[in-house]
Amino acid sequence: MEILIAETAGFCFGVKRAVDMAFKAAEKGRGRVATFGPIIHNPQVIQRLSETGVVPVEEIGEDIDLLIIRTHGIPRDTFLKIQQRGIDLIDATCPFVKKAQEYAKLLKEGGYRVIILGDSGHPEVKGILSYAGEDAVVVKDAAEIKRPGRKVGIVVQTTQPVERLKELVSRVVETAKEVKVYNTICNSTAMRLRETEELASEVDVMFVVGGKNSANTKQLAHLCKRIGVNTYHIETAEEIRPEWIKGLKKAGITAGASTPDWIISEVKERLEQLSTNY
Ligand code: SF4
Repeated sequence: MEILIAETAGFCFGVKRAVDMAFKAAEKGRGRVATFGPIIHNPQVIQRLSETGVVPVEEIGEDIDLLIIRTHGIPRDTFLKIQQRGIDLIDATCPFVKKAQEYAKLLKEGGYRVIILGDSGHPEVKGILSYAGEDAVVVKDAAEIKRPGRKVGIVVQTTQPVERLKELVSRVVETAKEVKVYNTICNSTAMRLRETEELASEVDVMFVVGGKNSANTKQLAHLCKRIGVNTYHIETAEEIRPEWIKGLKKAGITAGASTPDWIISEVKERLEQLSTNY
């Protein structure tokens, strides 16, 4: 069986940067080191980090010496609280997410009512919202916005599809007099989706590798299923059952932004092993 791996599979720039920062902090051994929430949505990477002594925490405890902020960023008041407590910080917020926070703040200061396109429950969006002012709203699509206001600023969760942004802008310009849009969508997500779509259309089966709790991995799996190809969302190579590839000629592998290279390689190796048995 031929096995094709998407070039964009695995860690994006922001995740690689954050994971490297966390492992470096562990090496330096600066007291009790913690990440504020899991640094990325991948249980296997979290496990490896905990083995080096870096553990995720949900609260800012007294006994932490060094706290690492994850790629999604954190709300402004939480940031200030950490500083007040005098805890050392490593800010691994992805620079693209930081930009979205800065733009939200700029819009608020410029008198715009900020609309954030994204998932209101996602930590990245909660962080951006904290910079956007009291009258800011989060919408998941254009249909959710009823009265946008007259002077409107738009920022976007980095993983949103551009089509959704286009629909939102079209909706807002119907009534608003002034609209300022910061397209804060990260290219990495769009490129990964495009490549996955192409790959899924030319193979018999797709393996989407990544945390079951990772939004962007779920998005990839959803896309493959929509195309109509047999799709398996797996976290590790051990989950692959031999019957899934029986009689097939071509398999594709893609992976979410929080999936490390070593897991992708293990998936490829297992597929190679299993396919030689059939
Ligand atoms: S997907 Fe883009 S915005 Fe999100 S962490 Fe990766 S590089 Fe940063």
